[in-house]
Amino acid sequence: MADWPRELIMNYLKTHPGSVCISCLAKFIDVPANQISMVRHQLIGLEVELGLCSQCRRTQIVMKSA
Ligand SMILES: [Zn+2]
Repeated sequence: MADWPRELIMNYLKTHPGSVCISCLAKFIDVPANQISMVRHQLIGLEVELGLCSQCRRTQIVMKSA
């Protein structure tokens, strides 16, 4: 499997400050949510926490650029 989901995730988070949940991120970068879940543990410089999504305004697991 190539690195494309990782690059898309990092690029998105770098250019969009704030926390975003996996389902919103999946929609924006057009990558299936399960792919994001799989690679998020390998991402360096990424904070994953329970918080408020800046897009859908729901409290869930969100990611942001550290
Ligand atoms: Zn969201």
